[in-house]
Amino acid sequence: MSADLVVRRPQGLYCPAGDFYVDPWRKVERAVITHAHSDHARAGHAHYLCARRGAGVLRARLGHVDLTALEWGEALAIGDARVSLHPAGHILGAAQVRIEAQGQVWVLAGDYFFSTHGERNPTCDAFEPVRCDCFVTEATFGLPIYRWPRHAEVFDDMNRWWQANAAAGDASVVGAYSLGKTQHVLAGIEASIGPVYVHPTAEAINAAHADEGIALPATRPWRELEDARSLRGALVVAPPSASAPWRWQRAVRVRESFASGWMQLHGARHRAGLDRGFVLSDHADWPGLLAAVDAARCPRVIVTHGDEAVLVRALAEKGLECGTFRTAFGDTSEG
Ligand SMILES: [Zn+2]
Ligand SMILES: [Zn+2]
Repeated sequence: MSADLVVRRPQGLYCPAGDFYVDPWRKVERAVITHAHSDHARAGHAHYLCARRGAGVLRARLGHVDLTALEWGEALAIGDARVSLHPAGHILGAAQVRIEAQGQVWVLAGDYFFSTHGERNPTCDAFEPVRCDCFVTEATFGLPIYRWPRHAEVFDDMNRWWQANAAAGDASVVGAYSLGKTQHVLAGIEASIGPVYVHPTAEAINAAHADEGIALPATRPWRELEDARSLRGALVVAPPSASAPWRWQRAVRVRESFASGWMQLHGARHRAGLDRGFVLSDHADWPGLLAAVDAARCPRVIVTHGDEAVLVRALAEKGLECGTFRTAFGDTSEG
């Protein structure tokens, strides 16, 4: 039997044939980055490789790093390995890393969105199944309870909620991670309902999307919210940790919601004291995870972050050879 193409080292997931890491969590010489979320793309590596589609958002987050960018499917020889990147459907530029060496193909999918309903995230390229001998998958929502509703349904709900709040003169706040979820929300809302605000951290990221031809509705400057009257009828999309300029005013009632796969958990919304919870995720749900593994046509799977044990059991029952990698991935605020 030939050696594994990827192994776990203290710095991260390592490919000995190419002497590089994928999404390392400690500083390394050569890092292949699946996507720009902070648990996967860390600062301080000497060289970065990412998908060309994701270079702008990576730079918006990390500044000017030494970066090589590959077009989808373009192959690059690194040491004795051939590396190519393929869309993961998660956020703009999110890639699956295909590694070919020693007569084997491994695919590290990073975070991905794949839907058995043919849904896709309109702010990025759709997940593309890649055949391989070993598929390394996340399991953020690796429990059978996670089954996403249709995007159209979620956005109908969100738009109706905003419309009703606006008609009452109230503000609507959607909690959303700045990179990925904020743009997904913006792409789905009916912007004619009222003014839209995003947190300043999302503005540079929105610009990187515009550079890639991803059309998003125009947003208004955040500082306008210092005047509480600007809140009337507005939709504010911001990460939950964002300092909220509306906290100390009484002039306008603020309705708060959150957009995340975690909102499918009964009680999560109530515990957070939210008016609404929208089930919107950039990760595969349970049927999506199983379908992605099926589509890779692989005899072997390695599960990284999330609910590994349950997914491993389900895949082992289908006759796949299963393992796990203990990683530093998984930022629950991003679901
Ligand atoms: Zn991610
Ligand atoms: Zn992640």
